[in-house]
Amino acid sequence: MKSILPGLLLVLLGYSTSGQTIVNRDPAIENMVRQISADTLRAYVDKLVSFGTRSTLSATTDPVRGIGAARTWILGKFQEYAKKSGGRLTAFLDSWTLQPDGKRVDKPIEMANVMAVLKGTDPLDNRIYIVSGHLDSRVSNVMNRESDAPGANDDGSGTVAVMELARIMSESSFPATIIFVTVSGEEQGLLGAGYLADKAVKENWNIEALLNNDIMGSNHSNETNIIDNTRLRVFSEGLPAFETDKKVNAIRQFGFENDGKSRQIARYVKEVGERYVDHLEIVLIYRNDRFLRGGDHTPFINKGFGAVRLSEMNENFLHQHQDLRVENGVEYGDLAKFMDFEYLRKNTAVNLASLANLAKSPQSPQDLSMDVSGLGNSTSMRWKAPAAGKVKGYYVLMRETAMPYWQKKFFTTDTKITLPYSKDNYFFAVQSVSEEGNESLPVLPKVGFRN
Ligand SMILES: [Zn+2]
Repeated sequence: MKSILPGLLLVLLGYSTSGQTIVNRDPAIENMVRQISADTLRAYVDKLVSFGTRSTLSATTDPVRGIGAARTWILGKFQEYAKKSGGRLTAFLDSWTLQPDGKRVDKPIEMANVMAVLKGTDPLDNRIYIVSGHLDSRVSNVMNRESDAPGANDDGSGTVAVMELARIMSESSFPATIIFVTVSGEEQGLLGAGYLADKAVKENWNIEALLNNDIMGSNHSNETNIIDNTRLRVFSEGLPAFETDKKVNAIRQFGFENDGKSRQIARYVKEVGERYVDHLEIVLIYRNDRFLRGGDHTPFINKGFGAVRLSEMNENFLHQHQDLRVENGVEYGDLAKFMDFEYLRKNTAVNLASLANLAKSPQSPQDLSMDVSGLGNSTSMRWKAPAAGKVKGYYVLMRETAMPYWQKKFFTTDTKITLPYSKDNYFFAVQSVSEEGNESLPVLPKVGFRN
């Protein structure tokens, strides 16, 4: 039989034909992952807790207590990394004044997100990847600006993960830009993330993905007490929140309800995170967030960007949003002693692997289209090389329509492919691949080129 797949190498995703797992790690990323330190993460959390409260409503000018002091310390760390970065990393406070909103802001406040921008080295590549945590904390009453609100896990965990990523990743260069941000005002209504998302729209930022890290360093729930530091949840929306009405027809016609931007990012984080981090399973949650809770990825999703939330597997609600107290022998409050820093190290590593692999990858292929001009039991697609980045080739991804993850990848150096699998029965996508094997985010075909 003449092969319908000239020059193609079939790789069963994650498994060889003998059933062994194939792990192809980029040594540069592996080396960065190894540098993440549970001790550094712990020391940073202890320091954050030492500011007493990081309530967004707390003091902004007191040098030792309150959110202002915490911001100044984080900025100082970012500046320290910037000094060693050979000019690649820039650190600054992005400040604005917030007026009372009649809800969770009762008087004008000086707000600031702490930013560190690792500028991409390819002038043709305008992609931006953002990793975020929120530096503010709270107790039972969200308007309480005085009481101690240690916020060790919510969201000291996400904040120190972002800092550790900035520390390690700023020592390398990447073609695309990575922004490390610790935002303010999450507990008062996602205010810092909302401010940043508005700015990104106004300034036309090409954000390809945002990873929001919020509550990711504790290993047991308040109900079961089973220790579980081997699973991390990634939340991603299904139907896009942005311009849903415009997209819904195509989504219905082609069955793309499980293939929005955020879902693609979640799958990518699962594949790449598990490739680099041992003893960790990434659990995809097919919803934007948990019940009764919100997160900083949502303002970005609402503006049309792809964004996901990373959170620990089992939450302990006695340790979140609680006044520090003991009641009937039960200790309440968000303290570092309830955290698992080895677990936080692994969850930080998932971020590092995903961000580094994305920022090292070429851009996604352009103008991918699928031939739907006739009935048939094969699938033909074609595309153009990416606008930026050196490409070794492309992975064509394939899965059955009812499967959550990509099942097969076909490698090709060509910019077209015909596969002996019916377009009616599978989903397809294409990724660009760099010389080192770093994959871009996959793109789905715009259905409809005609031969
Ligand atoms: Zn939080």
